Amino acid sequence: MIYMDNAASAPIHKDVVAAMLSCINKTYGNPSSIHRAGRMAKRSIEAARSSVAELINADPSEIFFTSGGTESNNTILRNPSYRNIITTQIEHDSILEPCRSCRGEKSITYLPPDEFGMISPESLESTITKQTDLVSIMTANNEVGTIQPIEKLSNICKGYGVPFHTDMVQAVGKMPIDVGRMGVDAASISSHKIRGPKGVGALYIRGGIKTSPLIYGGGQEGGLRSGTENVPAIVGFGEAARIARQQLHDDMQHVTSLRDTMTYRIMSEVSHVTYNGHPLHRLPGNAHLSFLGINGEDIIIKLDEYGMAASTGSACSVHTQKESHVLRAMKLDGDVISGSLRLTLGPDNTMADVDTAIHTIKRVVAELRRVSPLKEKYAF
Ligand SMILES: *Cc1c(COP(=O)(O)O)cnc(C)c1O
Repeated sequence: MIYMDNAASAPIHKDVVAAMLSCINKTYGNPSSIHRAGRMAKRSIEAARSSVAELINADPSEIFFTSGGTESNNTILRNPSYRNIITTQIEHDSILEPCRSCRGEKSITYLPPDEFGMISPESLESTITKQTDLVSIMTANNEVGTIQPIEKLSNICKGYGVPFHTDMVQAVGKMPIDVGRMGVDAASISSHKIRGPKGVGALYIRGGIKTSPLIYGGGQEGGLRSGTENVPAIVGFGEAARIARQQLHDDMQHVTSLRDTMTYRIMSEVSHVTYNGHPLHRLPGNAHLSFLGINGEDIIIKLDEYGMAASTGSACSVHTQKESHVLRAMKLDGDVISGSLRLTLGPDNTMADVDTAIHTIKRVVAELRRVSPLKEKYAF
């Protein structure tokens, strides 16, 4: 199988599996217990915390483990002390839905992107006031891969004394991240997007930023996230973070070169294709293309038949079958939206994968266009 859906979930790294298996077998104690088995589990968690902290250049005391990106985002957005919130129209559903669920209690402004999926600092500048309690803008978009000007955005927030949160689930492990330099006060991370296990993630919170737990109980994770820690998952996450940090520059180079070769060839060998998102400020592995006159869903179903995994956009849209809110916010043409295909490459992909992918995509697109109702319009 050719797997090009790394933005939905990345294949787990073999060293992560090894670390988790060893932990499941040997580290059975409860991290809150005083005895040796408990202390051993506690030590494993703290080693993982340091590794995750290093990946984003944070202090370990600023990292709180959660069940994933969704919980990290909910923990910040649902905090009752943040009542006036500015976010964007292109956030992941794990930001947008908590906002919707608080409609009665909070006032929320959604900044629009431009046609490249970019949020302009000017639009934040003209919306933010001293009454704003929180700004939340994603570091990189999960559908089109556009990277936001985070430093400029956080700087504006600083001028108003407003805390700045960023969903950096897609950006971590794909580009250099330094929370200090980026000026962010809080950030969400997920393990399974960086070749770790599913069901674990972290919330970075700089000291002095208001927090409030979603889940109450035994007071684990500094009281921010109660419940006995998922030690093997946390250990796997720590190992994935270590690998991501160690291989970041090689991975970026490798994945960018595969992505550029693939998009260049598809754009030159297939007619009526658009390349969506920002041409320069985008995640290394993200290629987002639209094949006019056919439907993205039909493309992925046929690609799957030929042994290739891709996506139309966000993996979560399968539950709702609605068209992408991100592409709609970018005001793309209807045929561009319906013909969209997201290919997200990872470090495991090879140039041979790219060759096979191009061959398969050309074949699928030709097959679908042969029976397209829009055949006349585009003169295929
Ligand atoms: C995947 C994703 C999430 C959700 O993370 P989970 O760990 O799957 O809950 C949040 N935000 C973005 C941008 C994502 O891509």
